[in-house]
Amino acid sequence: MRQMVTPDEALQIILENIQTLTARTIPHADALGQTLARDIRSELDLPPFDNSAMDGYALRAADVQAASENSPVTLRVVQTIAAGDFSQVEVTPGACAKIMTGAPIPPGADAVIMREDTHENAESVAILASARPGQNIRRAGDDVRRGETVLRAGSVVRAAEWGMLASLNQAQVEVFSRPRVTILTTGDELVSPGEPLKPGQIRDSNSFTLSALVQAAGAEAGLMHVGDDTGEFEKALREAALCSDAIVTSGGVSMGDFDPVRDVLLAQATVHFWKIAMKPGKPVMFAGWKSDGRTVPVFGLPGNPVSVMVTFEQFVRPALLKMLGRRALRRVEVTAKLDAPLKSPAGKVEFVRALVAPDGDGWKANLTGDQGSGRLSTMTRANALLVVCADTTRLESGQKVVAQMTDWPEIE
Ligand code: AMP
Ligand code: MG
Repeated sequence: MRQMVTPDEALQIILENIQTLTARTIPHADALGQTLARDIRSELDLPPFDNSAMDGYALRAADVQAASENSPVTLRVVQTIAAGDFSQVEVTPGACAKIMTGAPIPPGADAVIMREDTHENAESVAILASARPGQNIRRAGDDVRRGETVLRAGSVVRAAEWGMLASLNQAQVEVFSRPRVTILTTGDELVSPGEPLKPGQIRDSNSFTLSALVQAAGAEAGLMHVGDDTGEFEKALREAALCSDAIVTSGGVSMGDFDPVRDVLLAQATVHFWKIAMKPGKPVMFAGWKSDGRTVPVFGLPGNPVSVMVTFEQFVRPALLKMLGRRALRRVEVTAKLDAPLKSPAGKVEFVRALVAPDGDGWKANLTGDQGSGRLSTMTRANALLVVCADTTRLESGQKVVAQMTDWPEIE
């Protein structure tokens, strides 16, 4: 076991000890938000047939070469084709077909003139503009060609992917299982919202922030709470391990007299590291807990409301994304200009809460206030974490700093 590691080392050790979960097949209806477990190759062309991009008239471009507003060309309207129809009737010279958006182009026609460029009569239409061959026609396979790999394993099914899977007639979809994560909060002082509060007690907020972060990562969250008692904690951990792919604890992991997570994990688990040279969130324990022939990863996060969120973001989220088979594990980073000077401790990477917003061609970072690790309000105003290197002790207003965009999804 290593006592103290850097944030980069911590993430590396964690990812080395995390495996992607197995794949399973689910109905298309359940696929939104899931992660594709295999590449999706198209077995068909999209669109499947040549069709009209406009409401208008399908005709032969050669017939209307000379057409303009001042010298219209009159064509006979011999058929009307709606979306969903399929016409085999050929458009012959001097004739045309009234056609709706999405309707198949009839044989003989090679262009569509939009309705706005016509003057409609009973059985004929005056065409007021010329057309080049192919105009307003969406060709079969324009969007997706048969045999093409359209979606890749490891990508998330968002709105567009869900729609694409439907277009490709993927009624069943192979996805990676979602990690089941038990959030195990510790602390004798904690009371749920709505319950009476005795002097010295505080409200439990970590259950909620962690639960939200777990779900936002695409995993399933279950909640447990224990007081600061080693026996109670050990029992809860055993129980949680039986039905979890990962366990996230909050509090009880530092140097206090009543820190059960530290005591139980050090005594009974394989602890990979115990402290990370970072601020906030120095006490973070990563361990493997043997249960039923499996090793369940346990993330012992600090109790302070900001520390727990920041350490989750840095270490647990990438681990859950790896379990989910995601290709991209790191947040997008931008370079932003500081709005105020910043002091930072030597020897620790500091993650500073900030609101990053566009500023001319670049980005500016507004600090969200005093960076105490208990001040959850500073997280409510933030959309980014500024990363201040271990050897940087001061940054001036206007200096550039790397910002992890914690509200943006990871991209490859
Ligand atoms: P600990 O690491 O257990 O000493 O906790 C550090 C600080 O975080 C203490 O002030 C705790 O009261 C606070 N804390 C621990 N767990 C929670 C929680 N679930 N919700 C809100 N604050 C907490
Ligand atoms: Mg505690």
